[in-house]
Amino acid sequence: LPLARASAEVLPVDKLQAGQPVRLRIRDNTLQALEYDLDANRFLRWERKEGRLTAELHTRPRIHQTRTAYGRIRSSLFAAGDRAGLSERLTMELAQIFGWDIDFAHELRQGDWFRVLYRVALRDGKRIADGPILAAQFYNHGEVHHAIRFTNASGEADYYTLEGRSVRKAFLRSPVKFSRITSGFSPNRDHPILGERRAHRGVDYAARTGTPVRATGDGRVRFRGQRGGFGRVVTLRHFNRFTTVYAHLSGFASGLREGETVEQGETIGYVGQSGLATGPHLHYEFRVRGRHRDPLHVDLPRAAALPQKFRDRFRERRHHLLAWLATAGPQQLAALPDADNPS
Ligand SMILES: [Zn+2]
Repeated sequence: LPLARASAEVLPVDKLQAGQPVRLRIRDNTLQALEYDLDANRFLRWERKEGRLTAELHTRPRIHQTRTAYGRIRSSLFAAGDRAGLSERLTMELAQIFGWDIDFAHELRQGDWFRVLYRVALRDGKRIADGPILAAQFYNHGEVHHAIRFTNASGEADYYTLEGRSVRKAFLRSPVKFSRITSGFSPNRDHPILGERRAHRGVDYAARTGTPVRATGDGRVRFRGQRGGFGRVVTLRHFNRFTTVYAHLSGFASGLREGETVEQGETIGYVGQSGLATGPHLHYEFRVRGRHRDPLHVDLPRAAALPQKFRDRFRERRHHLLAWLATAGPQQLAALPDADNPS
């Protein structure tokens, strides 16, 4: 076949698959050109040029754009994201970025709003990929939160507040992902088993036995073992100042040893009801310099700030992105902080 011969060098004909769409161009009853899609990105084109049949591999150009979106919460974050033209993936990204400061499950209010500046990739005018988010604002509880994406010299991208501090906190708010709080921090309450009045110096998360328990911050295992009413318990120490306690576990993460370092989010054990517990739950404590604090309300420290040497480049980028972001949605939303002189 002349077609097969012409394309033998570019792509052997037995690599072609039946059922793929082809496009033909016919003039004067002769085939002038034929295009065959290899995949979404590439196609093969046979063309008759000066009586000879040639075959060439083509790549569809991928075009990148930066877009803005503005959304106001009526029912849910996802509904607002959808109305604003964000994909579910991007809305999820937005929730992750601000998840350190906003409790999207419990604290989102009607009238809260967001602005997003994000990248999309297009091919033939169709959106084929989106993200990352370059900058975003989220208004919640009378406060505007900001996140600026910044890539440092080692190529790591992260999101920063206007002051150049990572939006991430040194601690996760909750050690169990999907759970219900059944008992909060209180200086006084009746213990369900001991029946005596006792302080509850932690928070209880009800979850199924075996649910993974995450280290809420980077730290070192200080204790892993059995301890009275706590049953199986893990105690972590963080930057010498903080201690977290995870009690009533059904088991420990395999290989977890005392003295070992753990990373934020790492599974250290599993929910259970060892020790004095009425049902499967995690008892979690947060201590600052040995003193018990309410893990739900304690001011959590931010993760590391941007190193000094990046500050100038960050300021420049922040200025540029905030100005762009401000073009999304109503202009009188909230006075933007002075980008050249934040707090
Ligand atoms: Zn408890």
